[in-house]
Amino acid sequence: MNYKLWIDGKWEDTKGGKMMSIEDPATGKNIAEVVDASREDVDRAVQAAKRAFYDGRWSKKTPSERSKIIWKLADLLEANAEKLAKVESENTGKPYAYVSLGGDIPFAVDNLRFFASAARDTHGSHAGEFMAGYTSIYRREPVGVVGQIAPWNYPLMMAAWKIGPALAAGCTIVLKPAPGTPLTTLMFGEIIKEAGIPDGVVNIISGGNDAGQAIVEHPDVRMVSLTGSTGTGKKIMKTAADTLKRVHLELGGKAPFIVFDDSDPELVAAKASMAATLNTGQDCTAATRLYVERGKSKVMQEAVVEAMKNVKVGLPFEDGVQMGPLISKVQRERVSGYVDRAKSAGAKILTGGGVPKGFENGYYYEPTVVANVQQDSEIVQNEVFGPVITVQEFSDEADALSKGNDVLYGLAASIFTRDIGRAMRLSSQLEFGTVWVNDHLPLTSETPHGGFKQSGFGKDLSAEAIGDYQITKHVMVAQS
Ligand code: NAD
Repeated sequence: MNYKLWIDGKWEDTKGGKMMSIEDPATGKNIAEVVDASREDVDRAVQAAKRAFYDGRWSKKTPSERSKIIWKLADLLEANAEKLAKVESENTGKPYAYVSLGGDIPFAVDNLRFFASAARDTHGSHAGEFMAGYTSIYRREPVGVVGQIAPWNYPLMMAAWKIGPALAAGCTIVLKPAPGTPLTTLMFGEIIKEAGIPDGVVNIISGGNDAGQAIVEHPDVRMVSLTGSTGTGKKIMKTAADTLKRVHLELGGKAPFIVFDDSDPELVAAKASMAATLNTGQDCTAATRLYVERGKSKVMQEAVVEAMKNVKVGLPFEDGVQMGPLISKVQRERVSGYVDRAKSAGAKILTGGGVPKGFENGYYYEPTVVANVQQDSEIVQNEVFGPVITVQEFSDEADALSKGNDVLYGLAASIFTRDIGRAMRLSSQLEFGTVWVNDHLPLTSETPHGGFKQSGFGKDLSAEAIGDYQITKHVMVAQS
C-alpha cells in the first residue's frame, strides 16, 4: 500500500520528496511505502494550517461546537478501532490485544473524549478592575499553528495525545509521525475529515528527521510539541530559538522502581515484569531500575526474575502474547549493545540477554534482568528502551531516594511499601513528573503526564495540556 500526504483535507502527492519503505518488525518484511516529505511539502502543510487558523474556521467556533466535533472524532476512532489496531500491530509489532480492545486505541478514544469535554472550559480566569476606571479581561487564546512531532512507540495514541489538546484550544496543526510508524496516523486523516473537522485544521505529513527540522524552522509555526528522545528535544529547542517558538517537550525517561521490605513479593514481581516489558520496554515510563531494600532483596529479586521468565513473547496476532519485537534492527542492536557492554563490565545477567529462540526473523529480544551493576554505569544512567531492568540494593530511605533521583531524567518513578508516611515522604522528594505508590504505569486522561529535569517540560493529557496550547491576552478597557 502506498500513502500520500494529508494536506488541507485531502491526499496530496509529494513535491520533491522521496518514498520510504515501512516494515513489520515482527517479520522484517516491507508492508507499505510512504512519503519522506520535502521542505516544500512541509511548507504546503503549514500554509494550509495557517489559512485554516486565520480564517477562524476552527479557532472561532464556540467551545461547544469544537467539543461536539472532537467527541465525534472519538466515536469514529472507536468505530474504526479494529481496522486501525490491525495496522498498528503490523507496523509496530505490538500484541494486537494490547492495541485493540484493552489497549492503546480505547485509551486514545477516552483521551479524545476527555479533551472534547475539557474544550468547553478553556476560558480566561479573570475579569475585574485592577486600576481605577479600567476593566481588565484575561482571554485565553489559541497559540496558532502548531507543529507536533511524534515518536514510534505509541503512534496512534501519541497522535491523539497531541491533537486532542491542540484542537480543544483552537489551534491548527501540522503533525508528523515517526519515520518508521506513520501508517495509522496517516489513516487518521480521513477519520478527522469525516468527524467534521474543517480542511486544513489537521495536516499529517510522514517523513524523517529533516521534515521534522523543517517544521521547527518554519517561521509560521508558533509552537512545537515533541514527544521523543532527550537528544532530539535539545536539538529542537536550539532550532526553535531562531524563531523564538514555544516548545513543549515530552522526552525520555529512566524510571526507578523502589521496593521496601514490607512489600508483597508477588505484587512487586507482577508489576515490575509488566512495567519493564509492556511495549517491549519501549515506553518512556517503563520500570528500568529496580532498587530493593537490603533485608529482603534476594526474595524480591528472585520473584522478579521468575516473572520476567514467564512473560509470553510471541507474534503480535497470537493469543495470549504479552511481548512482541523491538521496533527495528537498529533498536535491537542498541538494546543488546547496552546489555553486552554491561556484561563485559562485570554485570550478571539473571535472565534473558539474547534473541529468543524461534524469533530470529523479527527484531525480538528477551525480557532481561541485569544485576551487579554500578549506579554510575551507562546501563543504569541511560535510556535503553528495551525489555531490560537492572537490579540494585539500597540500605535505607535516604539511599533509595539518592539512587532513585540520580539520573538526568525525571519522568516517572514508583515506590512499593505499606508505610503510608514513607510513601508520602518519598513521593514529595522524588524528582519525577509522576510517582506511583504500589503500582507502576497507569495513566488517566484527567491526570497530567510530563517530565522534570531532562525529561522535558509541558504536559500531555489533562486540562494542563490544553493550557500549554493557549496564550493569555490581557484586554484593558478604559471605562470613560
Ligand atoms: P526520536 O527523538 O528519535 O524521534 C522522535 C521524533 O522526532 C520523530 O518523529 C523524528 O523524526 C523527529 N526528529 C528527530 N530529529 C529531529 C529534529 N532534529 N528536528 C525535528 N524533529 C526531529 O525518538 P523516538 O526514537 O522516535 O522515540 C523514542 C523516544 O521518545 C524515547 O526517548 C522515549 O522515552 C521518548 N518518549 C517520551 C514520551 C513522553 O511522554 N515523555 C512518550 C513516548 C516516547
